[in-house]
Amino acid sequence: MHQIVAIAEYSRQALVELRGSSGIEYDHLTRGILHFYTEQKEFDDSLPMAKLMRDLGCPRESISADEVVKIEPALASIRNKIVGGDFTATDESGDVYKFTSSLARKAADAGVQFQYNTSVTRLIVEGAGSARRVTGVEVIDGEGRHQVLRADAFVIALGSYSQELLAPHGISLMIYPGKGYSATYPIIKGDLAPTVSLTDDGYKIVISRLGDRLRVAGTCELNGFGRDLNTTRCEALTRRTRELFPEACDFSNPTYWTGLRPLTPSNIPYIGRASIPNLFLNTGHGTLGWTMGCGSGKAIAEIICGRQPEVDFAFYGEPKSAGAVPRVQVAKA
Ligand SMILES: Cc1cc2nc3c(=O)[nH]c(=O)nc-3n(C[C@H](O)[C@H](O)[C@H](O)COP(=O)(O)OP(=O)(O)OC[C@H]3O[C@@H](n4cnc5c(N)ncnc54)[C@H](O)[C@@H]3O)c2cc1C
Repeated sequence: MHQIVAIAEYSRQALVELRGSSGIEYDHLTRGILHFYTEQKEFDDSLPMAKLMRDLGCPRESISADEVVKIEPALASIRNKIVGGDFTATDESGDVYKFTSSLARKAADAGVQFQYNTSVTRLIVEGAGSARRVTGVEVIDGEGRHQVLRADAFVIALGSYSQELLAPHGISLMIYPGKGYSATYPIIKGDLAPTVSLTDDGYKIVISRLGDRLRVAGTCELNGFGRDLNTTRCEALTRRTRELFPEACDFSNPTYWTGLRPLTPSNIPYIGRASIPNLFLNTGHGTLGWTMGCGSGKAIAEIICGRQPEVDFAFYGEPKSAGAVPRVQVAKA
């Protein structure tokens, strides 16, 4: 928790800076994230966790059921089922696809070359022992053309697929794909749809308003690398959302999607230096890749440039992170 709060907070600041300097638009809302609980035991269990988050500098407040509905009036119809909640006013939400595609356009305008529809098939490593270096990557494009790309430094940021390229070089990461589902519905009655981002703890789903759409995400299927849609899981998402906000959306034609969360046992990502000096890692962000993304990107850029990132996080491959005690100090709010 120490590690995750530190990198997430650093990331939030990096995102705010990036949004300010780039003007990226992605249906973002800065209205906080509200967890609501419908089981007394779950709520009771959440209290020490919220306190720990507060101690680490994240302003997560435990609140009553009435306060939950005051913060998000769209939950009024299920007020009698809610037993309590917690609220982090500084949290944000937005459309990650709009964010990343808009960021990629801006990067391309600034001279970055993207090669889409292209797979890396192999890292080319030369030398032995501490003199080992990655000298290139073999890639294959959508038309089956092979190519070798050369560079000074290489970052593995392949999510759940990272391990495959690293294993032949003796680098072992513990990453396993956790399939998640999302459903998006057009909003037809805006005043009945939530505007605060919500976590429905009982059903383990998150609900975000993205402009005139409502997006709901959840479930974690441990079932290899397949991304097919399981109809039962899709329908469960829609059933619960309809229960919560029956008249807010058009539920007749949802857009379903699945993605693989690159899970690590602790949910702490691998960010840092691999055992080959010019090879770097930025992967394994699990359930929180959007939350930790901007900070992770900023940190790995600093590390590649030989600078120490301004966040006390146990970066992979750094000598200081070898100890058993987490080397994190988070300023208290
Ligand atoms: C339903 C769902 C909801 C989520 N909600 C949230 C949320 O609310 N907040 C949050 O913080 N996080 C959330 N996450 C988690 C977040 O999406 C992930 O942590 C994040 O996508 C990880 O980013 P990544 O770039 O490391 O990996 P990925 O997003 O998996 O991207 C890896 C990329 O590498 C490409 N690739 C793989 N192998 C190769 C290769 N050999 N050559 C070339 N390219 C390759 C893949 O095609 C892919 O595009 C959610 C995830 C899911 C599935």
